[in-house]
Amino acid sequence: MTKVSERSLSIKAKLLTEGIRATPRALAGLGTIHKEQNHGLFGWDFEDHVGRLLPDDFVLSDGTVVQFRGNSGSPYVLDADGDGLALFEGEERLDAAGLIPRPPFYSTALADGTPMVKIAQVGGEDCFFVCYQNYCSHFARGQQCLFCNLVATKETYDSVLTRKQVAQIAEVAAAAFAEGNCKHILLTGGCFSARKEVETVVDIVSAIRNALGVDVVPGTVLPSPATNPDHIRAYREAGIAAIGYSMEIWDEALFRAICPGKSSTTGHRQFVAAIEEAVRVFGPGNVYGVFVLGLEPRDTFLDGVRSLTSIGANVVPFVWSPNPGSRMEGHSAPGWSWYVDVMQEAAEVVARSGVPAGTENHCYRCDGNSMLHDALRLRSIA
Ligand code: SF4
Repeated sequence: MTKVSERSLSIKAKLLTEGIRATPRALAGLGTIHKEQNHGLFGWDFEDHVGRLLPDDFVLSDGTVVQFRGNSGSPYVLDADGDGLALFEGEERLDAAGLIPRPPFYSTALADGTPMVKIAQVGGEDCFFVCYQNYCSHFARGQQCLFCNLVATKETYDSVLTRKQVAQIAEVAAAAFAEGNCKHILLTGGCFSARKEVETVVDIVSAIRNALGVDVVPGTVLPSPATNPDHIRAYREAGIAAIGYSMEIWDEALFRAICPGKSSTTGHRQFVAAIEEAVRVFGPGNVYGVFVLGLEPRDTFLDGVRSLTSIGANVVPFVWSPNPGSRMEGHSAPGWSWYVDVMQEAAEVVARSGVPAGTENHCYRCDGNSMLHDALRLRSIA
C-alpha cells in the first residue's frame, strides 16, 4: 500500500466539494481504455452531462481514489501531462493523476443480450457494485431524502436496468471477478416489504456466492434495518461478510427533517438497535453505519461515530454535494477544510475505539466519495 499524504486528503476534499473539469485530451481514452460513469445509483456531478462521457473516478499519486464530480466552473482541471495525466489548479500542478482502467465486462453482454454494465458497475478500483432495484417509494409521496437524486438520475441518463434479475447479477459477478480487479461487492436496492427484501437479498448473495465458488462473499449488503433478528442472521447465513445501514444523519431531529420518508418508516433508535444486533451476528468491524456528511453539525456526526464505534461498528460517511435533481440542488456543501477537520477527528475516534477496520470487505479503493478510509490510512489503518 502506497503511503498516503495529508495533502491528498485536502486535495480530495477540495475536489469533492468544488468539483472538477477535464480537458478533451485528458479524456481521450474514456469509455474504451478508461472507466466512465454509468450512473448505477445516484448522480454525483454538479451538473448533468447527458451525451458526454465523464470519468467515474481517478487515482492520485499516493493511491487515493477520488470520485469525479463534474463541474464546468471548477478551478480544478484534469489535463494531459507528459505521458500521463495531472491535476492542475490554474498554472499550479497539484499532483499526478491516473484514470482507472475500463473493466472488460463493460463491453460484454449477458447471454440474454443485456449489456453487463446495465446490471453492475465497478466502484473505485475494486468494488463490484449492484443496485438491484433503482426505485424508492418515498419519491412518489414527495418524502424523499432532501439530498437524494435517485429518480432524477434514472430519468436523466436511463443507463441501467431498473430491476435486475438474480441470475443476471450472478452472471455479471462471475465475469467481473474473473477479470481479477474486483475484490469486494457492495449491494444495495430499493424499498420493499421486509420479507420480500430479505428473500431478494438472500437470493442474490447466494447466487453470487455460487457464481464465485466461495463460502463467504467479501463485501457488504445495505438493506433496510431489520426489526427481526432472524433477518440479520439470514443475510449472514446466505454468505455475505458484512452489512451496513444507511442512517444518513445521526441527529434525530435533523434526520426526521432531511429524510422524511425514511425516518417515518425507520427511526433513529431502530437503526441503532439493528446495528447492535448486526454486530452480534456479523462480528465487530463487519457492520457499517452509512452517513451523508455535510448536512448536520460536526458535533452530532462525531457523537454518532463515538456511539457506533463503542458498540463495535464502523462508519462510512459520504461527502455530500448538492447534486442536480435533489431537493438540495443549488445549495452549498461546507468548505473543504471542514471535511478534512471532521474526517481527521472521526479517524481518531475510530482508531482509538479498536474496532477492526474491516478492510477485507470495504476499503479505500472501493469508492472515491468517502474520506474516512484515507484519514485512517494516515494512521496506518485501512
Ligand atoms: S431512502 Fe432516501 S436516500 Fe434512499 S433512495 Fe429513498 S430517498 Fe434516496
